[in-house]
Amino acid sequence: MYDKNNVFYKILHGVIPCKKVFENDVALAFYDLNPVCKVHVLVICKKECRNLEEFVKETSADEIKLYFKTVTSIAEKTLNLKKSGYRVLTNTGDDAGQEIQHFHMHILGGESLKSVL
Ligand code: AMP
Repeated sequence: MYDKNNVFYKILHGVIPCKKVFENDVALAFYDLNPVCKVHVLVICKKECRNLEEFVKETSADEIKLYFKTVTSIAEKTLNLKKSGYRVLTNTGDDAGQEIQHFHMHILGGESLKSVL
């Protein structure tokens, strides 16, 4: 069950501030509070889903497509990472170290990530 008492739900609803990068109908993107590299942005979905599995199960194909197009557009156009390259990832569950139970993708870049993962 999705628990509304999570940080990203509060950011989505304006209860907690964020350093916003981009927003549309399906996603909100903002800078990670504890960046692991020079450019670290989170793209959270607007639906109340805990992880990727729930997101793909509960979301229409058009919205899923728009969400992933949004992620690549933010990385390549908004953050200008197309030429230098970037990494996109999502964590699911304890072994992955998922901290916030609201589906989101990390965009990492701005420097070489070979030593990060
Ligand atoms: P995950 O482990 O995939 O759930 O990642 C959660 C990410 O959210 C971590 O990288 C945290 O640094 C980041 N985070 C936690 N609270 C905030 C916040 N208030 N604003 C921005 N990023 C946050």
